[in-house]
Amino acid sequence: MNGIALKSRIKVCYKCKEYIRLFPNNLITEKEEKIFSEYHSGHPTQIVNVSEWQNIKEEYTRFRR
Ligand SMILES: [Zn+2]
Repeated sequence: MNGIALKSRIKVCYKCKEYIRLFPNNLITEKEEKIFSEYHSGHPTQIVNVSEWQNIKEEYTRFRR
């Protein structure tokens, strides 16, 4: 696994089964997370690490708005 993959986190919405990747110190990430949070406001969301993500990713689709 490369350095970016190790540092990245994944934010998921358990209700909609959608996710975004979060990269540290990244402006695109910050903007995307804001949109994600607004869209999924009131939904059960959580930030998970890569190893947790491996167990659940099959069920999720990438968030695009
Ligand atoms: Zn949602």
